[in-house]
Amino acid sequence: MPLKTREEYIESLRGLKQKVYLFGELIENPVDHPIIRPSLNSIAMTYKLAENPEYEEIMTTKSHLTGNKINRFCNIHQSTKDLINKVKMQRLCGQKTASCFQRCVGMDAFNAVYSTSFETDLAYKTDYHERFKKYMIYVQDNDLVVDGAMTDPKGDRSLAPSKQEDLDLYLRVVERRKDGVIVRGAKAHQTGMVNSHEILVMPTVSMGPDDKDFAISFSVPTDTEGIISIYGRQSCDTRKLEKDIDIDVGNFNFGGHETLTIFNDVFVPNERIFLNGEVEFAGMLVERFAGYHRQSYGGCKVGVGDVLIGASALAAEYNGVSKASHIKDKIIEMIHLNETLYSCGIACSSEGEKTKSGNYQIDLLLANVCKQNITRFPYEISRLAEDIAGGIMVTMPSEKDFRDPNIGPYIEKYLKGVGKVKTENRMRILRLIENMTLGSAAVGYRTESMHGAGSPQAQRIMIGRQSNLKEKKKLAMNIARIEE
Ligand SMILES: Cc1cc2nc3c(=O)[nH]c(=O)nc-3n(C[C@H](O)[C@H](O)[C@H](O)COP(=O)(O)OP(=O)(O)OC[C@H]3O[C@@H](n4cnc5c(N)ncnc54)[C@H](O)[C@@H]3O)c2cc1C
Repeated sequence: MPLKTREEYIESLRGLKQKVYLFGELIENPVDHPIIRPSLNSIAMTYKLAENPEYEEIMTTKSHLTGNKINRFCNIHQSTKDLINKVKMQRLCGQKTASCFQRCVGMDAFNAVYSTSFETDLAYKTDYHERFKKYMIYVQDNDLVVDGAMTDPKGDRSLAPSKQEDLDLYLRVVERRKDGVIVRGAKAHQTGMVNSHEILVMPTVSMGPDDKDFAISFSVPTDTEGIISIYGRQSCDTRKLEKDIDIDVGNFNFGGHETLTIFNDVFVPNERIFLNGEVEFAGMLVERFAGYHRQSYGGCKVGVGDVLIGASALAAEYNGVSKASHIKDKIIEMIHLNETLYSCGIACSSEGEKTKSGNYQIDLLLANVCKQNITRFPYEISRLAEDIAGGIMVTMPSEKDFRDPNIGPYIEKYLKGVGKVKTENRMRILRLIENMTLGSAAVGYRTESMHGAGSPQAQRIMIGRQSNLKEKKKLAMNIARIEE
């Protein structure tokens, strides 16, 4: 039964015994927790859309391992068409949730580990790739959500893992046994961890010979003994705890989340280890995962951008300014920026190539250009949205005041825009824009755009490395008739 329904996914999480802390307390029931639930709903949307025949081609595909129909989030890309459909799927999910739907990180990790394990085996005669294929069949057959865990806390950024004062600042092997390894350390910023069945760990940087214990990739269930997660705070998160809250959260149904996930001497059995000490392949894994994830943002952020552009156009209409030429021009600028990001996502997919293992990888240069633009354009789109929304977006009274029989009528009267639009609807759109530019969804739309899949400088290094400047100099010399 490779495809789970939305409801089956939610029920499957109830069976997990993850240790999750929030506001200093161990959460008994993360599934129904008011702060966590919207993020779960976003992942649940990836199941719901896969059930819909209208989205069958985008949301599902055939497993190359079993021949079964699977959710595309569990796919090992078999063609450039697959890479393109991935981006389209992410745009769709962004449009339907207006937030981070969390399931991409695992998908990007699958594809990076798939090809890297193959090439590690070629060099070392190990059997990581066969293990990983078996693991992928398990993931696909059970339609699982897998947290992609790359980022270590990293301590002093100027020092290699093995040179840190506290060696646990990079996740590492602390004991090697016949049947597996014991790992200790942490992974920071873990998107969707609490809503995931499994966690797939990868190294976070290129490594040298002294870093053998840190060059480890493996997967374990998220409720494995020794794993604890501390839930990350987001802007305006406690609004979700307010009684009868609706308008003020901006996006009632959906959200995203990150955790600091700690591995307190966790046992990993051999069959779940996909890299173990082969330091020169750590860099390949990082580069490939980052490439896929930089492509991802050319889909998901674009879908969220679609919602923000729509909200801005509505805010303009509700204010009676939609026909003003500068407003029309600002909306066009937002669309132009958003579609430029999409073009980058599609371009790096179209130019993808087959790896030695047989799966398809994006064009790395174009994927890095995609992400570099992502570190900028959502900020500009947000700036234009705030311009169009007007200051009331951040000074508006609370929903409680709006519902109050004495105070409410003042808000009804003085927050009115154009005559035929209900004040409440104007408030709803302004809160949605607030949510996406300054509230909890801004984690995904803004700061994740900046740092997720690597901070801007990481892409510039890759752009420098991939762009073949020598060839460009040759072209110029040729035209200028220079002979050396
Ligand atoms: C919302 C969000 C979701 C995320 N989701 C995930 C996830 O699901 N899984 C996952 O594994 N990771 C995830 N990440 C982590 C993401 O990959 C990192 O944030 C990113 O790699 C940057 O690392 P950092 O946050 O530690 O920043 P830092 O490394 O502290 O970077 C801060 C600044 O310092 C600079 N810098 C860092 N090191 C050096 C150096 N050695 N020399 C010079 N300059 C340096 C950077 O360029 C940057 O300008 C997520 C991040 C965010 C914000």
